Amino acid sequence: MNENEKELRLACRDAWTRRERMWLSDWADKNRIMTESMSSHTGKWRTSFTPYLKQIMDDLSPFSNVREIYVMKSAQLGLTEIGINWILYIIHQEPGRVWYVLPTNKNIKSTSKLRFESALKSHPHVHNKILENASAKENDQLFMKVFPGGSLQFVSCQVAKNLKSEAVKWIFIDELDEAPNDIEGQGSPVELLQHRQTTFYDSKLLAVSTPTIKGHSLIEQNYEGAEDKRIFKMPCPFCEFYHSWQQEYFDMRTELMTCPECKKEYDETYKTAMLQKGKWESIDNNENSKDAIRVGYRLNGFYSPVGFVSWHDIANKYNSIQNNRTKRKTFVNQTMGETWSVEGAQLDEYELLARAEKNEYNAKEYLPDGVRFITVGIDVQEDRLEIEVVGWGFNTECWSLDYVVLQGKTLLHTDIVFKDLQTFLARCVYYKKDNDTKFIPAAVAIDSNYRLPTIKTVAEKINNRGFYRVRGRGYSAARDATPYRKIKGEERFFSLDVDDYKDRLFHQLGIEKVGAGYCHFALSSGNNKVYFEMLTAEEKQETSNFRGFKFAKIRSRNEALDCRVYALAVADISGITRRLEDRSEDEELKPETES
Ligand SMILES: [Zn+2]
Repeated sequence: MNENEKELRLACRDAWTRRERMWLSDWADKNRIMTESMSSHTGKWRTSFTPYLKQIMDDLSPFSNVREIYVMKSAQLGLTEIGINWILYIIHQEPGRVWYVLPTNKNIKSTSKLRFESALKSHPHVHNKILENASAKENDQLFMKVFPGGSLQFVSCQVAKNLKSEAVKWIFIDELDEAPNDIEGQGSPVELLQHRQTTFYDSKLLAVSTPTIKGHSLIEQNYEGAEDKRIFKMPCPFCEFYHSWQQEYFDMRTELMTCPECKKEYDETYKTAMLQKGKWESIDNNENSKDAIRVGYRLNGFYSPVGFVSWHDIANKYNSIQNNRTKRKTFVNQTMGETWSVEGAQLDEYELLARAEKNEYNAKEYLPDGVRFITVGIDVQEDRLEIEVVGWGFNTECWSLDYVVLQGKTLLHTDIVFKDLQTFLARCVYYKKDNDTKFIPAAVAIDSNYRLPTIKTVAEKINNRGFYRVRGRGYSAARDATPYRKIKGEERFFSLDVDDYKDRLFHQLGIEKVGAGYCHFALSSGNNKVYFEMLTAEEKQETSNFRGFKFAKIRSRNEALDCRVYALAVADISGITRRLEDRSEDEELKPETES
C-alpha cells in the first residue's frame, strides 16, 4: 500500500464514520420520544402532527443561515418541545456550549429537574454522552451538564450577572415575557444574551413566549424587529386561497372560520388536512426579508393540533369571560397569542351626558325598577364633602341616584358640615314605584385619605354597622393584592386598590348596552356636564407596572370619580356585589331596608 492509497483509505474511513448531519426536524422524527411526563401525546415525535414547527426547527439546523428566531405564540403549541429537541440535537450532533434560559430560579428548578431530565433519560443515546461529575453537588448536576465538546447550562434572568459570563454559541430562551424588561438597569435579557454570542459567526438564539402587555412585551418587540416576519397560511378547502387563522375570521357563536376570499365557512374537521398543506409566508416581502438572519413567527390557539386546544374550547372560553378583565387579558395572551392593549384609555364626557339626557329617570320620585341595594360614596375635601348615592342591580348594573355637595370646613369633627352629613344620610330614603318598600343605604364609604383623626371621630359618632372608612393605596401594591383589604386593628377601615376600581369602572362606563355592568345616569340625579367632567377627569396610561397601566389626572377636579369608586368598593366590602352576581331577575332578593 503506497502513501496515496493509505491517505485515500483514511479519508474514506473518516467519511464513513463521520456523523450524519441532519436537519433538526429529520433528527426529531428519527430520534425524539415523547413520554407521559412531557405531553399528552406520547410515543415517537412526528413533525407532521404540528407542521408549523418544521420551518422553525429547520432554522435551528446548522445548514440554515438564520441566527435569531423569535416566536410569539399562544400556549400549547409545542414550542418548548422544539427547544428541547434542539438541545438534545446539540448534545447528540453538534456539541458546543448551550444555555437554556428561563425567567426565574423557580422556573429553572422545575424545568431542569422534571421536564428536561425526563426528556434526557428517555433518549439513552443522548443521555450516554453526559459526563458524570462525581464531585459536583446534586443541584449543580441538574443545572449544568457537560458532554464531549460542550456543555448545557440552565440560567435565570433574575440577576444581570447570570447573563454576563463567557461566550455561548446557542441560546434557548423560554417564556421571555415573564422575565424583567430591564435587568438591574443593564438592558433586556435579549440584549444581554446577544453580547454572549458576538464571537461566533454561526451562533443561534431561539426565544419563545406567550406575549403580555402591548408596549412592554419583549417577544412582540423582537418579533416586530425581525427582518422577516412570518405567518402560517393554509389553503381554503373550497377555493384554495392561502390564508391564516385569525380571530377576525372566526365566529365565536357558530365556531366556524370564514375564508377571507370566497367567504365560505368551514369547521374544525378541516383543521388537520389544512395544516398539512400549510406554509410560512413573509408578511414583509421586502429586500430585508430575503436571506434574513433575524426571523419572527407568530401563532395563535386556532393552530393548536387536534387533541390540544379545540376551536370549541376557544369559543367557550371567549363567551364565558366577557365580564372579567383579568380573564380577558389571559385569553388574549394565552389563547390568541396577542399582546393586551389597555382598553378604554379615556372616556368622553359628552357621550355620557347624552346618555343622562336620553334615559331620564327621577329617583327622588321612585327608584328605578332594577335597583336592589343602595350604597353611598363620600369624598372629603378641605372645604366640602361630595357625595354620590348609587343603586345596584344584578351583575353590577347601576343607577346614579343622587350627587350632592355639602359645603363647609372639614377640619374638626364638630364642624357643621358633618352634622349636615348626618342629616343627609338620615333623609336618604327611597321608594319603589309599585310598592311602598323603603330603601335606605346598605353601606356607606367615607374617604379617609385625608383628615384621618377627624373622620375616625365622625365614624365613631355615626356608629352605624354599614359605615366604612376607606383609603386608597398605590399601584405598587403586590401582584396578588385583593381590590380591598382590611386595615389591621381598625374596625370597618379598608384600603382600596383604587387603580383596579377605576379600571373596573371605566370598563363599566364603556358598556353601551343596558344590562350587566351598565351605568345609568339622569340629569335629575345631578349628573350634569360638570359631574361628567369630574367622572372622566382621569385617563388610563400605560406603564411598566405589573398590570400595565395607571390612572393619571387630565383635569384637576375628579371628586365624582372618587365618590363612585368608594360606592363601588363598599358594595364589594359589604358583600352586595357578590349577592347580585350571576343572578337573574326572577331570583328575588329581599331588599336591604334595615341598617
Ligand atoms: Zn375560500
